[in-house]
Amino acid sequence: MKLSRKEMAELLKGIDGKILITTHKNPDGDAIGSSLGWFSFLKSLGKDVRVVYRDRIPYFFDFLPGINKVEVKEKLDEQYDWVIITDVSEPKRTGFESIPAEKSIVIDHHITAEPFTNFAIVEPNISSTCELSYELMVLIDPEKITYEVALPIYTGIFTDTGGFSYNNTSPRTHEVAAELLKKGVDPYVVRFNLFERNRINRFKLLELVLKTLEFALDGKVAHITVYRKFLEETEAFLEETEGFINYPRSIAGVEVAIFFKEIEKESWKVSLRSKGKINVAEIAKKLGGGGHKMAAGYETKGSLEEVKKNLFKELELAFESLDFEELEMLS
Ligand code: 5GP
Repeated sequence: MKLSRKEMAELLKGIDGKILITTHKNPDGDAIGSSLGWFSFLKSLGKDVRVVYRDRIPYFFDFLPGINKVEVKEKLDEQYDWVIITDVSEPKRTGFESIPAEKSIVIDHHITAEPFTNFAIVEPNISSTCELSYELMVLIDPEKITYEVALPIYTGIFTDTGGFSYNNTSPRTHEVAAELLKKGVDPYVVRFNLFERNRINRFKLLELVLKTLEFALDGKVAHITVYRKFLEETEAFLEETEGFINYPRSIAGVEVAIFFKEIEKESWKVSLRSKGKINVAEIAKKLGGGGHKMAAGYETKGSLEEVKKNLFKELELAFESLDFEELEMLS
Protein backbone atom coordinates (compact mmCIF):
# COMPACT_ATOMS: atom_id res chain seq x y z
CA MET A 1 0.00 0.00 0.00
CA LYS A 2 1.42 3.37 -1.02
CA LEU A 3 1.07 5.99 1.70
CA SER A 4 1.02 9.77 1.52
CA ARG A 5 3.72 11.72 3.35
CA LYS A 6 1.31 12.46 6.18
CA GLU A 7 0.23 8.83 6.51
CA MET A 8 3.83 7.60 6.41
CA ALA A 9 4.88 10.16 9.03
CA GLU A 10 2.04 8.97 11.30
CA LEU A 11 3.03 5.36 10.80
CA LEU A 12 6.73 5.98 11.54
CA LYS A 13 5.84 8.00 14.62
CA GLY A 14 3.73 5.15 15.97
CA ILE A 15 5.87 2.07 15.30
CA ASP A 16 7.40 0.39 18.29
CA GLY A 17 9.18 -2.78 19.37
CA LYS A 18 12.47 -3.71 17.70
CA ILE A 19 13.06 -1.75 14.50
CA LEU A 20 15.58 -2.90 11.90
CA ILE A 21 16.72 -0.55 9.14
CA THR A 22 18.33 -1.82 5.96
CA THR A 23 19.06 -0.65 2.43
CA HIS A 24 20.48 -1.95 -0.85
CA LYS A 25 23.55 -4.02 -1.66
CA ASN A 26 26.74 -2.06 -2.30
CA PRO A 27 25.33 0.88 -0.36
CA ASP A 28 25.94 4.34 -1.81
CA GLY A 29 25.62 7.81 -0.26
CA ASP A 30 21.83 7.96 -0.42
CA ALA A 31 21.45 4.44 0.96
CA ILE A 32 23.86 5.04 3.83
CA GLY A 33 22.70 8.60 4.48
CA SER A 34 19.03 7.68 4.64
CA SER A 35 19.51 4.57 6.80
CA LEU A 36 21.80 6.37 9.26
CA GLY A 37 19.59 9.46 9.26
CA TRP A 38 16.60 7.34 10.26
CA PHE A 39 18.72 5.45 12.80
CA SER A 40 19.65 8.61 14.72
CA PHE A 41 16.23 10.20 14.24
CA LEU A 42 14.25 7.22 15.53
CA LYS A 43 16.68 6.78 18.40
CA SER A 44 16.09 10.37 19.43
CA LEU A 45 12.37 9.53 19.48
CA GLY A 46 13.26 6.84 22.04
CA LYS A 47 12.86 3.85 19.73
CA ASP A 48 14.87 0.61 19.72
CA VAL A 49 16.68 0.65 16.33
CA ARG A 50 19.42 -1.31 14.54
CA VAL A 51 20.95 -0.91 11.09
CA VAL A 52 21.95 -3.99 9.08
CA TYR A 53 23.59 -3.99 5.62
CA ARG A 54 24.40 -6.89 3.34
CA ASP A 55 27.67 -5.37 2.10
CA ARG A 56 30.52 -3.57 3.75
CA ILE A 57 30.62 0.21 3.84
CA PRO A 58 33.03 2.18 1.58
CA TYR A 59 35.66 3.80 3.80
CA PHE A 60 34.88 7.34 2.65
CA PHE A 61 31.61 7.21 4.60
CA ASP A 62 33.41 6.51 7.89
CA PHE A 63 32.83 10.09 9.10
CA LEU A 64 29.08 9.67 9.38
CA PRO A 65 27.56 9.51 12.87
CA GLY A 66 26.23 6.03 13.63
CA ILE A 67 28.41 4.29 11.02
CA ASN A 68 30.14 2.21 13.71
CA LYS A 69 26.78 0.86 14.80
CA VAL A 70 26.02 -0.69 11.39
CA GLU A 71 26.03 -4.48 11.40
CA VAL A 72 27.14 -6.15 8.16
CA LYS A 73 25.47 -9.56 7.83
CA GLU A 74 24.84 -12.20 5.20
CA LYS A 75 21.45 -13.08 6.65
CA LEU A 76 18.84 -11.15 8.58
CA ASP A 77 18.14 -12.62 11.98
CA GLU A 78 14.51 -12.64 13.02
CA GLN A 79 14.91 -10.21 15.88
CA TYR A 80 12.69 -7.38 14.75
CA ASP A 81 9.11 -6.21 14.87
CA TRP A 82 9.41 -3.68 12.05
CA VAL A 83 11.74 -3.37 9.05
CA ILE A 84 12.44 -0.05 7.34
CA ILE A 85 14.01 -0.38 3.89
CA THR A 86 15.43 2.81 2.47
CA ASP A 87 16.39 3.64 -1.13
CA VAL A 88 15.28 0.31 -2.53
CA SER A 89 11.99 -1.35 -3.23
CA GLU A 90 12.76 -4.75 -4.67
CA PRO A 91 13.50 -7.49 -2.15
CA LYS A 92 16.48 -8.92 -4.11
CA ARG A 93 18.24 -5.52 -4.14
CA THR A 94 18.58 -5.67 -0.35
CA GLY A 95 20.80 -8.74 -0.80
CA PHE A 96 18.80 -10.57 1.86
CA GLU A 97 16.81 -13.65 0.98
CA SER A 98 13.74 -13.08 3.09
CA ILE A 99 12.20 -9.81 4.05
CA PRO A 100 8.64 -10.10 5.28
CA ALA A 101 6.07 -7.91 3.54
CA GLU A 102 4.14 -7.46 6.75
CA LYS A 103 5.34 -4.74 9.10
CA SER A 104 7.88 -3.60 6.52
CA ILE A 105 8.18 -0.04 5.27
CA VAL A 106 9.79 1.13 2.04
CA ILE A 107 11.03 4.72 1.67
CA ASP A 108 12.34 5.20 -1.86
CA HIS A 109 12.60 7.49 -4.89
CA HIS A 110 13.37 5.16 -7.81
CA ILE A 111 11.22 5.48 -10.91
CA THR A 112 11.36 1.70 -11.39
CA ALA A 113 10.23 0.98 -7.82
CA GLU A 114 7.78 -1.85 -7.28
CA PRO A 115 7.32 -1.91 -3.53
CA PHE A 116 6.66 -5.34 -2.12
CA THR A 117 5.97 -4.28 1.46
CA ASN A 118 2.63 -3.48 3.07
CA PHE A 119 3.65 0.14 3.62
CA ALA A 120 5.58 2.26 1.13
CA ILE A 121 6.28 5.79 0.04
CA VAL A 122 7.97 6.20 -3.33
CA GLU A 123 8.51 9.64 -4.86
CA PRO A 124 10.43 9.38 -8.16
CA ASN A 125 10.45 13.14 -8.63
CA ILE A 126 12.40 13.91 -5.49
CA SER A 127 16.21 14.11 -5.64
CA SER A 128 16.96 11.37 -3.17
CA THR A 129 15.65 9.11 -0.47
CA CYS A 130 17.45 11.43 1.95
CA GLU A 131 15.45 14.47 0.80
CA LEU A 132 12.22 12.48 1.13
CA SER A 133 13.31 11.26 4.57
CA TYR A 134 13.94 14.85 5.66
CA GLU A 135 10.41 15.86 4.59
CA LEU A 136 8.95 12.99 6.62
CA MET A 137 11.10 13.84 9.64
CA VAL A 138 9.85 17.44 9.53
CA LEU A 139 6.29 16.11 9.69
CA ILE A 140 7.15 13.83 12.61
CA ASP A 141 9.20 16.20 14.79
CA PRO A 142 11.57 18.85 13.35
CA GLU A 143 13.18 19.32 16.78
CA LYS A 144 14.59 15.80 16.58
CA ILE A 145 16.56 16.56 13.41
CA THR A 146 19.85 16.89 15.25
CA TYR A 147 23.34 17.25 13.73
CA GLU A 148 23.67 13.42 13.84
CA VAL A 149 20.59 13.20 11.62
CA ALA A 150 21.39 16.20 9.42
CA LEU A 151 24.91 15.16 8.40
CA PRO A 152 24.04 11.79 6.81
CA ILE A 153 20.88 13.22 5.26
CA TYR A 154 22.87 16.09 3.68
CA THR A 155 25.51 13.61 2.47
CA GLY A 156 22.93 11.46 0.69
CA ILE A 157 21.35 14.47 -1.00
CA PHE A 158 24.81 15.72 -2.01
CA THR A 159 25.87 12.41 -3.60
CA ASP A 160 22.57 11.68 -5.38
CA THR A 161 22.42 15.16 -6.90
CA GLY A 162 26.08 15.15 -7.98
CA GLY A 163 26.76 18.00 -5.55
CA PHE A 164 23.46 19.79 -6.39
CA SER A 165 24.21 19.76 -10.12
CA TYR A 166 22.00 17.02 -11.65
CA ASN A 167 18.56 17.89 -12.92
CA ASN A 168 16.95 16.12 -9.96
CA THR A 169 17.99 19.17 -7.90
CA SER A 170 14.92 21.32 -7.25
CA PRO A 171 14.51 24.65 -5.49
CA ARG A 172 13.23 22.62 -2.54
CA THR A 173 16.42 20.50 -2.56
CA HIS A 174 18.42 23.69 -1.97
CA GLU A 175 15.99 24.79 0.76
CA VAL A 176 16.38 21.43 2.50
CA ALA A 177 20.18 21.71 2.19
CA ALA A 178 20.01 25.21 3.71
CA GLU A 179 17.95 23.87 6.62
CA LEU A 180 20.53 21.11 7.15
CA LEU A 181 23.37 23.64 7.18
CA LYS A 182 21.47 25.49 9.91
CA LYS A 183 21.65 22.26 11.93
CA GLY A 184 25.43 22.53 11.83
CA VAL A 185 26.41 20.62 8.68
CA ASP A 186 29.63 21.98 7.16
CA PRO A 187 29.58 21.30 3.38
CA TYR A 188 33.35 21.14 3.25
CA VAL A 189 33.43 18.37 5.85
CA VAL A 190 31.26 16.32 3.48
CA ARG A 191 33.31 17.19 0.40
CA PHE A 192 36.61 16.56 2.17
CA ASN A 193 35.60 13.17 3.52
CA LEU A 194 34.07 11.95 0.28
CA PHE A 195 36.48 13.31 -2.32
CA GLU A 196 39.71 14.47 -0.75
CA ARG A 197 40.94 11.31 0.92
CA ASN A 198 41.57 9.19 -2.17
CA ARG A 199 44.14 6.44 -1.89
CA ILE A 200 46.79 6.35 -4.59
CA ASN A 201 45.49 2.87 -5.49
CA ARG A 202 42.40 4.54 -6.90
CA PHE A 203 44.47 6.43 -9.44
CA LYS A 204 46.41 3.31 -10.42
CA LEU A 205 43.07 1.63 -11.00
CA LEU A 206 41.74 4.61 -12.95
CA GLU A 207 44.73 4.42 -15.26
CA LEU A 208 43.95 0.78 -16.11
CA VAL A 209 40.21 1.36 -16.45
CA LEU A 210 40.58 4.35 -18.78
CA LYS A 211 42.65 2.19 -21.12
CA THR A 212 39.54 0.06 -21.68
CA LEU A 213 37.58 3.04 -23.06
CA GLU A 214 35.73 2.12 -26.24
CA PHE A 215 32.91 3.58 -28.28
CA ALA A 216 29.82 2.03 -29.84
CA LEU A 217 26.80 3.14 -31.88
CA ASP A 218 28.70 5.79 -33.85
CA GLY A 219 30.27 7.35 -30.79
CA LYS A 220 26.94 7.93 -29.02
CA VAL A 221 27.88 5.28 -26.46
CA ALA A 222 31.16 5.08 -24.55
CA HIS A 223 32.08 2.29 -22.19
CA ILE A 224 34.76 1.36 -19.69
CA THR A 225 35.42 -1.89 -17.84
CA VAL A 226 36.95 -2.92 -14.55
CA TYR A 227 38.14 -6.51 -14.28
CA ARG A 228 38.89 -8.34 -11.03
CA LYS A 229 42.51 -8.61 -12.10
CA PHE A 230 42.77 -4.79 -12.15
CA LEU A 231 41.64 -4.68 -8.52
CA GLU A 232 44.15 -7.34 -7.56
CA GLU A 233 46.95 -5.60 -9.42
CA THR A 234 46.30 -2.19 -7.85
CA GLU A 235 45.02 -3.44 -4.48
CA ALA A 236 42.08 -1.11 -4.90
CA PHE A 237 38.50 -1.76 -3.77
CA LEU A 238 35.61 -1.90 -6.20
CA GLU A 239 33.97 1.01 -4.38
CA GLU A 240 36.96 3.15 -5.33
CA THR A 241 35.62 3.14 -8.90
CA GLU A 242 32.90 5.56 -7.68
CA GLY A 243 32.82 8.44 -10.16
CA PHE A 244 34.80 6.70 -12.92
CA ILE A 245 31.72 6.60 -15.14
CA ASN A 246 31.81 10.39 -15.27
CA TYR A 247 34.84 10.20 -17.60
CA PRO A 248 33.11 8.46 -20.53
CA ARG A 249 29.94 10.45 -19.80
CA SER A 250 31.84 13.74 -20.07
CA ILE A 251 32.96 13.12 -23.67
CA ALA A 252 31.37 15.38 -26.28
CA GLY A 253 28.90 13.50 -28.47
CA VAL A 254 28.46 10.65 -25.97
CA GLU A 255 24.83 10.25 -24.97
CA VAL A 256 25.09 7.10 -22.88
CA ALA A 257 28.03 5.98 -20.76
CA ILE A 258 28.43 2.43 -19.51
CA PHE A 259 30.64 0.95 -16.83
CA PHE A 260 31.02 -2.85 -16.79
CA LYS A 261 32.24 -4.11 -13.42
CA GLU A 262 33.36 -7.71 -13.09
CA ILE A 263 32.07 -8.94 -9.72
CA GLU A 264 33.10 -12.56 -10.18
CA LYS A 265 33.90 -14.70 -13.20
CA GLU A 266 30.98 -14.28 -15.65
CA SER A 267 29.12 -12.06 -13.19
CA TRP A 268 28.76 -8.33 -13.93
CA LYS A 269 27.39 -5.17 -12.43
CA VAL A 270 26.53 -2.66 -15.13
CA SER A 271 26.14 1.07 -14.50
CA LEU A 272 24.42 3.29 -17.05
CA ARG A 273 24.37 7.07 -17.36
CA SER A 274 22.48 9.18 -19.89
CA LYS A 275 22.64 12.82 -20.82
CA GLY A 276 18.84 12.90 -21.01
CA LYS A 277 17.68 11.62 -24.42
CA ILE A 278 17.74 7.94 -23.52
CA ASN A 279 15.85 6.66 -20.50
CA VAL A 280 18.41 4.28 -19.02
CA ALA A 281 16.03 3.22 -16.21
CA GLU A 282 13.83 1.55 -18.84
CA ILE A 283 16.80 -0.27 -20.32
CA ALA A 284 18.10 -1.37 -16.92
CA LYS A 285 14.62 -2.57 -15.96
CA LYS A 286 14.35 -4.72 -19.08
CA LEU A 287 17.68 -6.29 -18.14
CA GLY A 288 16.68 -7.00 -14.53
CA GLY A 289 17.68 -3.81 -12.73
CA GLY A 290 16.37 -0.31 -12.30
CA GLY A 291 17.17 3.23 -11.25
CA HIS A 292 16.47 6.65 -12.70
CA LYS A 293 16.07 8.13 -16.19
CA MET A 294 19.67 9.35 -16.25
CA ALA A 295 21.38 6.89 -13.89
CA ALA A 296 20.55 3.22 -13.62
CA GLY A 297 22.10 -0.20 -13.26
CA TYR A 298 21.65 -3.95 -13.22
CA GLU A 299 23.44 -7.17 -12.42
CA THR A 300 23.83 -9.97 -14.91
CA LYS A 301 25.65 -13.20 -15.66
CA GLY A 302 27.55 -14.33 -18.74
CA SER A 303 30.64 -13.44 -20.72
CA LEU A 304 31.38 -9.76 -21.27
CA GLU A 305 30.63 -10.26 -24.98
CA GLU A 306 27.16 -11.60 -24.18
CA VAL A 307 26.50 -8.83 -21.68
CA LYS A 308 27.51 -6.20 -24.23
CA LYS A 309 25.45 -7.83 -26.99
CA ASN A 310 22.27 -7.80 -24.91
CA LEU A 311 22.79 -4.24 -23.76
CA PHE A 312 23.76 -2.80 -27.15
CA LYS A 313 20.66 -4.42 -28.68
CA GLU A 314 18.47 -2.51 -26.20
CA LEU A 315 20.44 0.69 -26.71
CA GLU A 316 20.10 0.44 -30.46
CA LEU A 317 16.32 0.11 -30.12
CA ALA A 318 16.26 3.08 -27.75
CA PHE A 319 18.25 5.27 -30.16
CA GLU A 320 16.04 4.13 -33.08
CA SER A 321 12.96 5.26 -31.19
CA LEU A 322 14.25 8.83 -30.93
CA ASP A 323 12.64 11.14 -33.46
CA PHE A 324 14.60 12.81 -36.24
CA GLU A 325 14.99 16.12 -34.41
CA GLU A 326 16.39 14.41 -31.32
CA LEU A 327 18.83 12.42 -33.45
CA GLU A 328 19.94 15.57 -35.28
CA MET A 329 20.71 17.15 -31.93
CA LEU A 330 22.99 14.22 -31.11
CA SER A 331 24.96 14.29 -34.34
P1 5GP B 1 25.09 3.03 -9.85
O1 5GP B 1 25.36 2.90 -11.31
O2 5GP B 1 25.71 4.26 -9.28
O3 5GP B 1 25.38 1.78 -9.09
O4 5GP B 1 23.52 3.22 -9.71
C1 5GP B 1 22.81 4.22 -10.40
C2 5GP B 1 21.33 4.15 -10.03
O5 5GP B 1 20.79 2.93 -10.49
C3 5GP B 1 21.07 4.19 -8.53
O6 5GP B 1 19.88 4.91 -8.31
C4 5GP B 1 20.88 2.76 -8.17
O7 5GP B 1 20.04 2.61 -7.06
C5 5GP B 1 20.27 2.15 -9.43
N1 5GP B 1 20.74 0.78 -9.61
C6 5GP B 1 22.02 0.39 -9.78
N2 5GP B 1 22.10 -0.95 -9.89
C7 5GP B 1 20.86 -1.43 -9.76
C8 5GP B 1 20.28 -2.74 -9.77
O8 5GP B 1 20.95 -3.77 -9.91
N3 5GP B 1 18.92 -2.81 -9.60
C9 5GP B 1 18.15 -1.70 -9.44
N4 5GP B 1 16.85 -1.84 -9.29
N5 5GP B 1 18.66 -0.46 -9.43
C10 5GP B 1 19.98 -0.31 -9.59
